[in-house]
Amino acid sequence: MNEIDDWSKVSLLEVRVDRLPRWHRPGLLCIGDAAHAMSPIGGVGINLAIQDAVAAANLLAEPLRAGAVTDALLAAVQERRTFPTRVTQAFQVFIQNRAIDPLMQGVDVRRPPLAMRLLDEFPYLRRFPARLLGLGVRPERIRTPEVTAG
Ligand SMILES: Cc1cc2nc3c(=O)[nH]c(=O)nc-3n(C[C@H](O)[C@H](O)[C@H](O)COP(=O)(O)OP(=O)(O)OC[C@H]3O[C@@H](n4cnc5c(N)ncnc54)[C@H](O)[C@@H]3O)c2cc1C
Repeated sequence: MNEIDDWSKVSLLEVRVDRLPRWHRPGLLCIGDAAHAMSPIGGVGINLAIQDAVAAANLLAEPLRAGAVTDALLAAVQERRTFPTRVTQAFQVFIQNRAIDPLMQGVDVRRPPLAMRLLDEFPYLRRFPARLLGLGVRPERIRTPEVTAG
């Protein structure tokens, strides 16, 4: 704190968790935070944004090349990515409400929540949150054909 000599250089980052009802219009597709703002909890917002991009490329690369992108194809990207987004955001809101908010309000948390105690007791269970955070709910793989320039 001693290093901060000028508060005008410090900006407050707004944290929100939301989703657009519709991610697309003719000629426009929103993905990543443009479609669904993510909280920092879990450090997964970037994973989701990249997975949206891979899903969009898989569905749209060939139609884009053929100049045949339809509204239905744009809707298919939203349809594919909505479920993982909802689940991940629900996880973030759960952690926010059950762990972070109480701590910020100064609640004396002597006994960790049951889920934490179970993870502590049974190390095998830790693979489930690790998988959720690392790979996401619906991992995406690149399926577009390789194209070389020239
Ligand atoms: C405080 C905070 C901490 C976070 N920490 C983490 C973390 O540790 N790990 C994690 O995975 N996620 C974290 N997140 C979430 C993560 O930042 C986002 O989910 C992720 O950055 C979304 O990526 P994106 O590419 O969709 O959007 P962004 O990263 O927001 O990228 C959008 C880009 O578009 C640019 N842009 C905007 N308007 C225009 C324009 N008109 N023309 C040209 N360019 C424009 C912006 O400058 C920006 O570079 C955090 C979020 C917050 C608020």
